[in-house]
Amino acid sequence: MAYELALPAGARTTAQRRAVLHAVEESVGSFTVAQLHERARRLEPRLGLATTYRTVELLRATGRVHPLLGEGRHAYVSCRPEHHHHLVCTSCGGVEETELCAAPSAAELRRRHGFQPAAHELDIYGTCRRCT
Ligand SMILES: [Zn+2]
Ligand SMILES: [Zn+2]
Repeated sequence: MAYELALPAGARTTAQRRAVLHAVEESVGSFTVAQLHERARRLEPRLGLATTYRTVELLRATGRVHPLLGEGRHAYVSCRPEHHHHLVCTSCGGVEETELCAAPSAAELRRRHGFQPAAHELDIYGTCRRCT
């Protein structure tokens, strides 16, 4: 990953939280909090699951962790601020980024709905190249 993960301003960075940040940075594809906890505990054996959850929530507030839909599986993917969308493989859990975008333009939204868009989210679920 080309970016430094950071907590929101004002959030204390403890060794335990740093271990969670590190595990997020290392993660390839989607992950659950339990999987993240397992990985981060290799750095900080005393890291609790509750701390892992709280840290993921903090990262979610900054947009650096993005929640994915799933069949009862609360998975996340690490995310960068630049415009992109996620292609999520429901077979292997792999996540690919794409610059392709199908969101309506700001001009069209203003014209049709009088709405001023600030951001949009789009994740596409399906089967990746390896799994087809
Ligand atoms: Zn796949
Ligand atoms: Zn887009």
